[in-house]
Amino acid sequence: MKLIPYPVMNTLRKSDSMAVVKKIPSRLCIGCQQQKPKRELVRIVRSPEGEFSIDLTGKKPGRGAYICNSPECLQKAVKARRLEQSFKSAIDKAVYEALKQELAGEA
Ligand SMILES: [Zn+2]
Repeated sequence: MKLIPYPVMNTLRKSDSMAVVKKIPSRLCIGCQQQKPKRELVRIVRSPEGEFSIDLTGKKPGRGAYICNSPECLQKAVKARRLEQSFKSAIDKAVYEALKQELAGEA
């Protein structure tokens, strides 16, 4: 298991447009389609320039999708092409490769 550094401060930040401050934000995993606390998910982000990356800080600008830190969820998301769906564009293979490595844990 690889631990992802996640500053506690992040749970208090107000980046979401709604006035949710102390409630733990939850997001839908694109793999298992379950609501999970944001800090348990990995964010995949597309920058305004159209570049995909894995955002471990949750602070990168751009449109994001969330996935559990689990290879199974990645597989499900890949199979169902949910990344393509949520970004409405083709996803470079390199993005999947990077995700696979990131979510593979000790592999
Ligand atoms: Zn999941």
